[in-house]
Amino acid sequence: MSLAISTPKTTCWGLSDPSLLRSLAYVGGCWTAGTGGITSAVTNPADDGHLGEVASLSGTDSAAAVDRAQAAFPEWSLLLPQHRSSMLRRWFELIIEHREDLARIMTLEQGKPISEARGEIDYGASFVEFYAEEAKRPNIESVTSHLPDAEVEVWREPVGVAALITPWNFPSAMLTRKAAAALAAGCTVVAHPSAETPFSALALAELAERAGFPAGVFNVVTGSAPAVVEPWMSDPRVRAVSFTGSTDIGKLLYSQAASTVKRLVLELGGHAPFILFSDADLDLAVSEAVKAKFATSGQDCLGANRYFAERPVYEAFCSRFADEAARLTVGPGLDDPDIGPLMNEKAVAKQEEHIADAVARGARVLTGGKRHESGRLFFQPTVLCDVPHDALILHEETFGPVAAVTPFDSEEEVLRRANDTEFGLVAYLHTQDPRRIFRASRTLQFGMVAVNRTKVTGAPIPFGGMKQSGLEREGSRLGLEAFTEVKYVCRDWA
Ligand code: NAP
Repeated sequence: MSLAISTPKTTCWGLSDPSLLRSLAYVGGCWTAGTGGITSAVTNPADDGHLGEVASLSGTDSAAAVDRAQAAFPEWSLLLPQHRSSMLRRWFELIIEHREDLARIMTLEQGKPISEARGEIDYGASFVEFYAEEAKRPNIESVTSHLPDAEVEVWREPVGVAALITPWNFPSAMLTRKAAAALAAGCTVVAHPSAETPFSALALAELAERAGFPAGVFNVVTGSAPAVVEPWMSDPRVRAVSFTGSTDIGKLLYSQAASTVKRLVLELGGHAPFILFSDADLDLAVSEAVKAKFATSGQDCLGANRYFAERPVYEAFCSRFADEAARLTVGPGLDDPDIGPLMNEKAVAKQEEHIADAVARGARVLTGGKRHESGRLFFQPTVLCDVPHDALILHEETFGPVAAVTPFDSEEEVLRRANDTEFGLVAYLHTQDPRRIFRASRTLQFGMVAVNRTKVTGAPIPFGGMKQSGLEREGSRLGLEAFTEVKYVCRDWA
């Protein structure tokens, strides 16, 4: 395959290992520009600087990637588990070895503060390490036979070629979380990274190549999402699709998957409630409230969107939360501020729309409320209080650094309001009453409930949402099983 595109103007990215910067797609063990000769530009959201051009592959190229993944599947799926495990382990070690470069690439193309980018590399690598171990575990379950003279076993077999589609907000960890599970299960993979942040995925492909994955096992196909993904959705050889992104695109893929009855993992939008009861530790709640909103500059599916504070602590919480938010620093990610730029103009416009709508309905702006002087895509950390129930921000994911606070008067009321959404990814709860923790954890219709803390994710836990926040789980043993089929074998020794 030809190298039709020159390496982007990237040698000045300040990397120790500039060969991690790849501008071509990685298909069948080769770096390829595809057949169309088209490229797409990647810009730095901090300053609109041109970072480079990446190959934009056509539908025909993308179908050819499935050919390569399908050809690699039989050998990969039959490889002894310890060999798959060793390659995953080597990939993990290489990611950790190149942590600083990978974090720098991410900050340049995605904008997030460099400390957060380092954290994402570690988080993403932890899935590769975890699934390197899980790859070795036996996948056979013996069942006591219900038939005379018969022996019964249940096997889990890799489903086949898996298509992985990842978003721009976690361009590294969303790929490793899916790919490591699929590869450990014995699947081969075709992956489409967001056109806004392809360099992180291509750097992971470079390291996968160095780790020794055979040609065709792990493919990264860059290009326009509809052009690349549509051929996968209609291709019967693609047996599983794992998507992280918006609920709207998730629904589209759900309908496209129907014609070939694919397995689906959907990690979609969130609209997290943060519920503060008056018996909670207020100092802790304020500091966790800041983390729950402003990490990843608010562009996080786990970001709290609706803050409910019980009336006796409402004013104190609003003012202390706003004070803390006002202290957050904003600037280019490489300067390691608390908040970097948003991804694009659409994201900034959404913050303005949600604030204007809430204010028009009577909300007060306690801090922030406007674009930040650091540049076109920067926004001030914002806290709104007295946000009425009908405000847009209490019904839609804001996906930015704007927090909406509203008071409540009873446990029954707040749990009903928290559940009054089509989303169900994560809920945050602050209280010291163990009975209330039990009742609320049972009542909240969310895939994850975080009590008196914000950070709850990690490789061993099942990550995922209820209702329109998604299907299936990532991480844990369940994340691997999502890429398997169950086969039941009944043997009679006649
Ligand atoms: P998005 O617009 O849905 O994009 C996600 C991915 O889908 C990208 O790779 C995108 O490619 C691709 N895509 C876009 N249009 C497509 C199409 N017609 N067919 C197939 N693929 C298509 O979401 P986003 O704006 O990047 O991410 C933000 C959303 O993701 C938020 O709603 C957030 O809550 C959610 N999210 C969820 C989780 C979770 O684990 N539950 C984690 C992170 C983010 P291009 O970017 O190249 O268009």
